[in-house]
Amino acid sequence: MRVFKFGGASVKDPNAVRNVKRVLDLFPEEELVVVISAMGKTTNALESLIAAHIEQTGQKQAILNDIRSFHHEILSDLFSSSDHAIHSETENCLNEIEKILNEEPMDHYDFIYDQVVSFGEILSTKIVSAFLQDQGVDNVWLDARKLVCTDNTYREAKVNWNVTQERINSAISQSEGNKKIHLTQGFIGHTSEGLTTTLGREGSDFTAGIFAYCLDAEDVTIWKDVPGMLNADPKWFEETEKLDEISYREAIELAYYGASVIHPKTIKPLQNKQIPLLVKSFLDPESEGTIIQASNRSDGLITSYIFKRDQILISISPKDFSFIVEHNLRDIFNAFHEHRVKINLMQNSAISFSACAGGDQVRIDALINDLSADFAVKYNSGVELLTIRHYDQETIDRLTGGKEILVIQRSRQTARVVMK
Ligand code: ASP
Ligand code: MG
Repeated sequence: MRVFKFGGASVKDPNAVRNVKRVLDLFPEEELVVVISAMGKTTNALESLIAAHIEQTGQKQAILNDIRSFHHEILSDLFSSSDHAIHSETENCLNEIEKILNEEPMDHYDFIYDQVVSFGEILSTKIVSAFLQDQGVDNVWLDARKLVCTDNTYREAKVNWNVTQERINSAISQSEGNKKIHLTQGFIGHTSEGLTTTLGREGSDFTAGIFAYCLDAEDVTIWKDVPGMLNADPKWFEETEKLDEISYREAIELAYYGASVIHPKTIKPLQNKQIPLLVKSFLDPESEGTIIQASNRSDGLITSYIFKRDQILISISPKDFSFIVEHNLRDIFNAFHEHRVKINLMQNSAISFSACAGGDQVRIDALINDLSADFAVKYNSGVELLTIRHYDQETIDRLTGGKEILVIQRSRQTARVVMK
């Protein structure tokens, strides 16, 4: 068994979907689990739909119409017959979203989010599955909401590995006939009560890791619009180099620091079972890509740099100018934990603790508000966090030139700079 993952960009329009078929056609003999994300920017659109619903901005219908026509346009291009069952299946999904949003907006933002946003993946996998079938690529559609079992931390659910493993194995072994392609959704799961959860933005990679772990897969391939893992984000840098081979450890470090190629949670389960992870281009599927495996012989050959933008640097001091010691650190960490704000870098001095964080502004505001009861809190927003793996001084100088450095930290392999 091999596991493939196709992200939003690889199913963003009709030709991209046709290309998925071309990639799959290269593996006629393999038994595959194919994990697919929502099409294009659908998850973002569904996020704004929920925001419009909760904040009652009056935009709801317009956003839903856009999502509807985006999917309908793809359908009408991919399927010549307007009677194909996929049309009504798509409409049913959209109606289900509408039904949820017709209820009074409640406070449980994260809960509603998961119930609605998960339809992005349901829609895309139904469409791709029907298209493949139509083109003679036999496949079975599996509902990840019934297979990936999680707790009820909505928007960031934790996997119950034992139950998930049982469910996945029995679903695959029971899947009809001799179908070799098992097609399923990334990013989504369910609680023991059967309510839908999501695994965190960009979580489809992690789903691929979950299936591979549970099935003892031969390997996992993440199909991307880049030739492999690069040493910098091609969105921001013209000259990038491909990392041909790196270790799990190095990939975890890079993903942790924000290299957006792979979701950070993906690698650990693969490492535990020594399952190689390949990152390859769906535009050039026969070229080598990057292989992530146990050996670290090639780590450190290439300097990688990773930017996290839109960060906030928060500095927290006891109001009475007493020292920062363990008990107030405990209170500070508790507050970050409760508000689910992730610390990307931290530093303390005698009377202050500083943390660089990013993510949801609503959570950050609530955190600052909460901390302000006991501490003097200052912050600097719109800062950048730069991480350089296998750094040298020349790279630090080049990437920080013209910027104000607010914090700099170095270890043997890694330099990290908060700058503005
Ligand atoms: N569709 C989800 C997202 O955009 C999951 C994923 O693409 O990995 O975050
Ligand atoms: Mg994605």
